[in-house]
Amino acid sequence: MTMFVCKPKSKRNIQDDCLLVRKALGMQDRRRVPIVAVLERAIPLAFEDFSFAVVPDAELPDAEAKANPATQSIRVRESVYLAATNGNPRARFTLAHELGHLFTLSEIPDDDPRAGFFRRERNAPSKAYLDPEWQADEFAADFLAPVPMVRGLSTAEVAESFGVSITVAMRQLRKVDSTLGRSFK
Ligand SMILES: [Zn+2]
Repeated sequence: MTMFVCKPKSKRNIQDDCLLVRKALGMQDRRRVPIVAVLERAIPLAFEDFSFAVVPDAELPDAEAKANPATQSIRVRESVYLAATNGNPRARFTLAHELGHLFTLSEIPDDDPRAGFFRRERNAPSKAYLDPEWQADEFAADFLAPVPMVRGLSTAEVAESFGVSITVAMRQLRKVDSTLGRSFK
């Protein structure tokens, strides 16, 4: 039986991971990531074991969506899928959060293509967090609205052009302040 764990990750680790995933998808310069197309087409192309299913709301009574690292699958309620298709920020965040679970909540063997995303630098992060829900939320926020891209924008501009809620826009803009002085490639 495989144990699924999440590696400790700092905020900075997750920000870097998200930039790499965006780059791998050819979306490094894109403000509004088409999260539904990412899950339906881009990720399955890159990772053939991945599956994405839209299910009737009644099949997921206790969650809007669920990620299963054991089967590399994401299931989402039909209503959430439709809302995300229509650009609803909360639904978009939910899908990005589940994607975050697949990228953070697993034992990744070295020969897995995802391993390249997560090879850490030799110096360990000074502060790392193990909570999988925190990691998935951080992933979702950083994937949808990367810190280097929101710099200099207003909260409303970030929400509008990246397709995130005001809360997420504020969360990302707060990170700009704490990463000033750091250079991004
Ligand atoms: Zn979660």
